[in-house]
Amino acid sequence: MLILHCPYCGVDAEETELHAGGEAHLKRFGPGSSDEEFEGYLFHRENPKGVHFERWRHVNGCGKWFHAARCTNTLEVFGTYSAQVFEPPQELQDKISAKRPGWEWRDLKGSDQ
Ligand SMILES: [Zn+2]
Repeated sequence: MLILHCPYCGVDAEETELHAGGEAHLKRFGPGSSDEEFEGYLFHRENPKGVHFERWRHVNGCGKWFHAARCTNTLEVFGTYSAQVFEPPQELQDKISAKRPGWEWRDLKGSDQ
């Protein structure tokens, strides 16, 4: 069973206490954006075999949204952190890089996906 640490209330929450919210760190496009940008925001998502960043809500706990870094291949959880940031904390990025040599955070804010 998946267990994620809620960074707000400090509980190690089981999967049944959580609700998945899809990919984290999406750049939102709205009025004034191109058709390609808006299509990318609505429909295009990462589907990596490896490190992935996801949104989760502690729905049967404190009710707050947070982010989790997991490996989709091994199901290893690298860590969780506040959803109020634009990128994972540096110490989490360093931890993932140590465990997955060659991995590095890429800023999606300027990409066209
Ligand atoms: Zn919580």
